[in-house]
Amino acid sequence: MDLNLIPFGLIDVTNKFVDIYDVERGKSCNCICPSCRTPLIARHGDSNTWHFAHAHKGVYKKTKKECEYSFYLSVRLMARQLIDSRIALGLPEYESHVDKFDDELGYSVQEKFIITREQNVTIEEIKVEKFFSGVAVDLIGNINGFQFVIYFTHQNRDVPIELYTPNSHKCGVIAVELNSLPMLFSKARKDGKTYKEVLEIFLSTNRDSKKWIFHPSYKKQEIAAFEALEETIKKLKEKKNTPFKFSSTDSHTFISKEDFLDAAVDSYMLDRKKNAQT
Ligand SMILES: [Zn+2]
Repeated sequence: MDLNLIPFGLIDVTNKFVDIYDVERGKSCNCICPSCRTPLIARHGDSNTWHFAHAHKGVYKKTKKECEYSFYLSVRLMARQLIDSRIALGLPEYESHVDKFDDELGYSVQEKFIITREQNVTIEEIKVEKFFSGVAVDLIGNINGFQFVIYFTHQNRDVPIELYTPNSHKCGVIAVELNSLPMLFSKARKDGKTYKEVLEIFLSTNRDSKKWIFHPSYKKQEIAAFEALEETIKKLKEKKNTPFKFSSTDSHTFISKEDFLDAAVDSYMLDRKKNAQT
């Protein structure tokens, strides 16, 4: 699906987003563009991917720049509307590593660590369009008393730097990348799904699109990993400084073949003497 096509239109009076599949075709859809707020027409074609288009080409030419990312804007706003106050999310594993170059060893040593395994969580008390650490984010919710932030990313919309170092460390921040949605929407009609359904499934189950930006126990795990790294370096140095040598003391404790035979003969003679005496 092209990025200049709009999957979700905005109904001006209710300020709610609607799926192209849930409206009448043409101008009767009563929707406007979320970027430039000009009327949209619903295109339900047999061959084309269903979408909203700007009703007045002239207006669109003027607002082209503004509406360049209307695909993503409509998706982001629809996602916020869909999620409402609660969502079950499949979250990915979060793995990281620490490394250190050691002068004595002459190379860099790395220690991997896992901050969290893959998991399914339910975020509650979700609020939309809130500020967090001084930046506007898409959604803020709550998991077991920890604030949980969701930030949608796509072309020309990266995670703000502030979210990597939030003011409060008692929180989690996840980025959800929307770049695979145009492709997923293109397949929607063939799979008998509306864009809304595709978006819902994508948000709850697609782990590959999600990335941890901040996790509350990252710092603790990182400190532990640094300690483990120092331990590994220490062991590697010990190994390096222990020269490889044959043990010279052990060879004396071995009984040579000759000694063994002598002892056996001695013992045999002793036995014979004993027997002769009796
Ligand atoms: Zn527009």
